[in-house]
Amino acid sequence: MRLDQIKERILDLLYPPDCNCLACGNPLYWEEHTLCAACAAELEPVEGLRCRVCSRLLKSDRELAEGLCVGCGRRPLERRIHGGAPLEHKGAAARLVYALKYDHVKAAAEPLVSRMLDWLPDGFDALTPVPLHHRRERSRGYNQARVLCEGLSRLSGLPVLDALRRTRVTRAQMSLSADRREGNVKDAFEAIEPCYGKRLILVDDVRTTGMTALACAEELYLAGAIDVRTLTATLAMMDTVERPPSPFASVSP
Ligand SMILES: [Zn+2]
Ligand SMILES: [Zn+2]
Repeated sequence: MRLDQIKERILDLLYPPDCNCLACGNPLYWEEHTLCAACAAELEPVEGLRCRVCSRLLKSDRELAEGLCVGCGRRPLERRIHGGAPLEHKGAAARLVYALKYDHVKAAAEPLVSRMLDWLPDGFDALTPVPLHHRRERSRGYNQARVLCEGLSRLSGLPVLDALRRTRVTRAQMSLSADRREGNVKDAFEAIEPCYGKRLILVDDVRTTGMTALACAEELYLAGAIDVRTLTATLAMMDTVERPPSPFASVSP
C-alpha cells in the first residue's frame, strides 16, 4: 500500500467519510473521496510568494518587495508569531472550516488535516490546540482545533499537549474589525501545563490577524516554551469575514 493510501485509510478511521461532499453537500461519484471534484480543485496548493511570518500569499508590489504581508509589516518584531497555513479562507476551504466548526461535520477535518500535514515544521515537540471556553466546547461537543490536532498527531507521531485553557468566552475573531480583535482575546488564555524547554505548534482552524496566536503564545512562553509556531487550516483576509450559507443543518451558533 502506498504512503498516501495509508494516510487516507488512517484519516477514514478517524473521520468516517459520508457519501456527500463535505464542503458543498452535493452527492459524490464513486471515484471521489470525501470531496467532489470541484471542491477538491479549490483545495489545490496555490503557487506564489508568501509572507515570511504568517505565510499569507503576497499580492501587492510592496508586499512582494518586502516579503511581508501588510498586517505583519505593521507589527513590531516581538509581536510577530510565525506560522503556516495551506489554504486561503475562501471557497471550499472556508466551507470545510464552517462545517467542522458550526455544523458538527467532524469528518470535514480530514481534507484539512491532510493539507496541513505538509506544513508541519520540523524539530517541534508537541501540538497544542487553541482551546475553546469550556461552555462553548460543551455546547459544540468538541473543540475543532483539538480534532485537527488529533488527526495531525496520528499522522505525524507528535503528541498533543493541552497546555492552555480559555478563561472567558470571547467573540469570534472573524466577526470583529481588526482593531477590536486584540482586546477581544487579551488575557483570555492561561497555561495549565508546564512547557519548559518545549517547542510547540499551536493549532487552530483559522488565522486572521494572528491576535489569538499572539495571546496564546505569550502564555506558552511564560510557561517555559522556547519556540511557538502556529499551524492553521486556513488564513483569512484581514477584513471581517461573513459566514457563507451552509449545505448542512447548523447545530450550534
Ligand atoms: Zn463539493
Ligand atoms: Zn504576514
